[in-house]
Amino acid sequence: MTNEDNLLNYLLRKGLTPSFSFPLQVANFIVEGKHIDRNGNWRRKVWASTSQDLKVALSEYTPGKVLMIDGVEYEVNGLHFSFPPNPVDRAKHVFEDGSLKYYTWCSTDGCGWVHKNVSSASTVGKCPICERAENINHSRYIEPEGFAPLIAPYRTDNEIINKPSNLRGPLQKAPLPRNNSSSGSTGKVEMPAPLLDEEDIDMQPVDKIHDYLGGDYELITMYSSPPSTIDKSGIELILVNSGYNKRGYFICQNCGRAEVEKPHELIKAEGHLRPYAISLPKSASDNQKALARDFCKGHPFREHEPDEGESPQWTPIMLGMVFHSDMISFRFKIQKPFKMDAELRNSKAFNGGLLAIKEALITELQSKMNYVNREIGGGIRKFAKQADSDSPREDYVDIFLFDQVSGGAGLVTSLKDSPEILPLILESVESRLSGDSCLDSKGCDRACIGCLLDFRNKGEHSLIHRKYGLSILSYLKGGDLLPSDEIDKEEIQTIAITMHDMYDDVEVNCIEKKGYFVLQIDFSGEQFFIRPISTLMNPKSDPLIELDDEYNKQWAADGLPRDKAFETVENLKNRQIFLLKLIRDTVNPSADLFS
Ligand SMILES: [Zn+2]
Ligand SMILES: [Zn+2]
Ligand SMILES: [Zn+2]
Repeated sequence: MTNEDNLLNYLLRKGLTPSFSFPLQVANFIVEGKHIDRNGNWRRKVWASTSQDLKVALSEYTPGKVLMIDGVEYEVNGLHFSFPPNPVDRAKHVFEDGSLKYYTWCSTDGCGWVHKNVSSASTVGKCPICERAENINHSRYIEPEGFAPLIAPYRTDNEIINKPSNLRGPLQKAPLPRNNSSSGSTGKVEMPAPLLDEEDIDMQPVDKIHDYLGGDYELITMYSSPPSTIDKSGIELILVNSGYNKRGYFICQNCGRAEVEKPHELIKAEGHLRPYAISLPKSASDNQKALARDFCKGHPFREHEPDEGESPQWTPIMLGMVFHSDMISFRFKIQKPFKMDAELRNSKAFNGGLLAIKEALITELQSKMNYVNREIGGGIRKFAKQADSDSPREDYVDIFLFDQVSGGAGLVTSLKDSPEILPLILESVESRLSGDSCLDSKGCDRACIGCLLDFRNKGEHSLIHRKYGLSILSYLKGGDLLPSDEIDKEEIQTIAITMHDMYDDVEVNCIEKKGYFVLQIDFSGEQFFIRPISTLMNPKSDPLIELDDEYNKQWAADGLPRDKAFETVENLKNRQIFLLKLIRDTVNPSADLFS
């Protein structure tokens, strides 16, 4: 890439040139060193450079990753800043001028809450979704302009100078990657989150879809972002690479060098290599020249200066961006027959099911509207209207879709103008979630490349759950979740077999009562029953518990009230031994637990 390309990218990024009147968000990867040119002069030399949409760069160029450009491997080891005010310490301005943004988020598994405000510190003390205070994180992030490898002085093409006395030698380039593969630990990009609050007045309901749905899907409300205007394009979304262990990266405040796991390369007394070679203007001061000859002596960022006698606490920094896009969302309220508690909202079953619906929607929308794969992104957002004196707390879920192109291109929102396509899309979503497109003709257990797994959702492969998606969709369509017997048939039978094999004197069988599965447990002449219920469902809404008077009267959560109990399938998997021990204890407290 030439300097002019660089400048153009920079201007586009900053929104100084019109590009649909909104800035493109592009990130470079640039290997900026030195060499001796044909005339024998020491010159700045860009050994390699490439660029990407910043959304993609946030996962593909992140510190620790190894990139291959023109057959050469480079390890990403720092941030690149275009046209820095300080030619020696290129990162310094970012840490001095308040460019660090705020990212307040909840780390409870499956919660996904993110605070709307990124420009100032938040005082939120408790997560409004999962109601836990200990999992609220107050992180900082940088929106990167670019990424770079380390640059080291070389004696010859292949001979690195390990202890240079002067870093401003004539030959400077990137050393070979330290971990010669990309398998090393790096970071992970979190699911994009719209920066909306509970009111979200920016999203407008699209009521007319119900004229086309023939009475189905009454429980869904569709929302759309308003058409773009000169001052405002769509909805703001945040995308963050949360770094190693969701903790961020250690980044040098002077040069922008980034370390993944530990800060110690950045706090060595002798200093460290920078992710660029320094080219000073002729007018540079003696002090600048001296600094440029030496290693960088900068330290990682820290939010708070240590008190006397305290060791410094470095503040790891995440990498992220806020982008605008057109967005639609399908919203529903969490109500009966769902279990209406935080356990449900954070459960793998609920979240895996929502992700499955999101993926099926993206695939079918792209296909029915002839869009290219990866033009549409999506995510899940949960929000709550907190209780007040007039009404109890209400919980909602948005399954949202947005245009991947910066600024939005009106792709997802065009659905609002063609509502007649929506029934076709939902029908195909249902068929896909039913297993009709799975590689296995019976339908896969959780997800497969036939139904839901795609390169675009590789970060979610272990989470997506087709059958729970089908259950939630069946609720949205007609009001009923699928009972455990339909989603978890094989799981329940497997649980019965493992429990049966646990103790010689305990018989466990999967039987049917009134057409529904029940685990029958025989021990010492007594009989117990456990009804496995759907993890998503309020027990009172389980079809057997509704039908069976005895169950209905005697039901009690958890534990085992003599002979009528229920457990969610998810809990049953983890509590098999506990339940059997409980039964043995109940019948015969003196029995040997380890027979
Ligand atoms: Zn939470
Ligand atoms: Zn540094
Ligand atoms: Zn499948």
